[in-house]
Amino acid sequence: MTPPMTGMTPASEALAQILNATQPLTDTELCPLIQAHGRILATAQQSPLDVPPADNSAMDGYAIRHADLKTTGTDQQPFTVSQRIPAGQVATPLEPGTAARIFTGAEIPPGADTVVMQEHCRLENDTVYVPIDVAQGNNIRPQGQDIRQGAEVAAAGQKLTPQTLGLLASIGIEQIPVLRRLKVAILSTGDELVEPGQPLEPGQIYNSNRYLLAGLLDKMGITCVDLGRVEDTPEATLQALSRATLEADVILSTGGVSVGEEDHVKHAVEKLGELNLWKMAIKPGKPLAFGRVGDTPFFGLPGNPVSTFITFLLFARPYLQKMQGVTPLLPQGSLMPSSFKRPRKSIREEFVRVKVTDDGEMETHPNHSSGVLSSTRWSNAMAVVPIDSAIAEGDLVRVIRYDQLF
Ligand code: AMP
Ligand code: MG
Repeated sequence: MTPPMTGMTPASEALAQILNATQPLTDTELCPLIQAHGRILATAQQSPLDVPPADNSAMDGYAIRHADLKTTGTDQQPFTVSQRIPAGQVATPLEPGTAARIFTGAEIPPGADTVVMQEHCRLENDTVYVPIDVAQGNNIRPQGQDIRQGAEVAAAGQKLTPQTLGLLASIGIEQIPVLRRLKVAILSTGDELVEPGQPLEPGQIYNSNRYLLAGLLDKMGITCVDLGRVEDTPEATLQALSRATLEADVILSTGGVSVGEEDHVKHAVEKLGELNLWKMAIKPGKPLAFGRVGDTPFFGLPGNPVSTFITFLLFARPYLQKMQGVTPLLPQGSLMPSSFKRPRKSIREEFVRVKVTDDGEMETHPNHSSGVLSSTRWSNAMAVVPIDSAIAEGDLVRVIRYDQLF
C-alpha cells in the first residue's frame, strides 16, 4: 500500500506491479552454438551420451592389467610393450602380461585397468619397468565421470555462459534453441542534450544516458533500438514513441517524466496508451513511469544519469529478465559493516554507491548527488538503506555487487 503520509510508492510494491504486467516471450530460434554466448536457452538440454564416452588415460604412460603385477620380489616389474595408443586411435585388447604405451586422452585398451605415468617407469628397448606398488585404477578417467547419458546439462531460461557452451559442445550440440533477442528502444528526451562528437554550445550537456543504457542492454543480451535524442515538444515525443512501438518489444525513455511543463512524456504516453507515474520512495531516482504505448510496454526512467542507472537496475532489468524467461530477482547481496552513516531515518529507501575492496572492506563515494555519474563508475556495489532506518558506521547493511547484476 502507498503510505498516505508521503504519497510515495515503495520500490518493492512498484516492482511487483510491474512484473505482474508481463509474460515471458515464447518466440525461439535455433542458434549455432558458436554464436550462442549470452543468449537465453529456450529448452533444457539432456546429454545423449556419456562424457567421456570411454575410459581414457589421464597421463602419458603405460597401461597394464593390475592383476599382472606380482606383489613380491623386486620394486619394479618388467613388461613387454605390446602396442602404442596415441589419443584418437582405437586400441586393441591388451595382451595378457604386457603393457601398452599410452598417451593422455587415449582410450584404455580392453583388459587394462591401470595407467602408470611415464615418469615412474624405466624403458629399456621394448621392455618397460613398472613399480609394483601402483594402485589399481590409477590415472584412468572413467567413462561418464563428467556427464552421464541422460543427465540435464543446462536448464531452460539460463543465460549461456562460456562454461555452458563448452559443456554443450562436449555433448555434441551444434545448434541450440534460444529465445529470440528482445528489442528495446531507447530514447533520450531533453533539449539540452547533444551527442558526443558535436560541439557543446552554452546551455547544453552531452547525452550520457543513451550510452549508459545501450551498455546495460547489451550486457543483458538485448538488441538496442537506438532512437537517439527527442526534443522537448509534444509532437516530437509522440512521433518518437509511435516509431518505437513499430520497432521494439519494450520502450525505455529517460527524462521528461517529472511534472514540469517541459516534461512531455507523461502526456504523450497517456495519449497513445496508459501510464502509471510513481513518486518512488527511493533515492536516487524518485520519478518512475510505467505503462504502455499502444501495446508496447513503456518505462519512463528519470533523467539524472545516476537515477537512470539505479532505476534501470531495480525495475527495468527484472522486467526485461522476466520477458527473457529468466527468473527476475534482485540479488539479496550480502551483509557488510557500513562505511557510512545515516543518522536520520528516511521515508525513502536509499541505494548508496559503495566500493567493496578485495579485503572485504566498504568505502563510500563522497558525492551522492544523482547528477554525479562518476559515482557509478567508481563504485562496484550498492548498499541498501531500508526505509525508516538509521545507520551508524559499522552497522550491517545489505550490499548488492554490480557483478551480480551485469
Ligand atoms: P529531466 O527528468 O528531463 O528533468 O532531467 C533531469 C536531469 O537529468 C536534468 O539535469 C537533465 O539535464 C539530466 N538529463 C536528462 N537526460 C539526460 C541524458 N540523456 N544525459 C545526461 N543528462 C540527462
Ligand atoms: Mg528534461
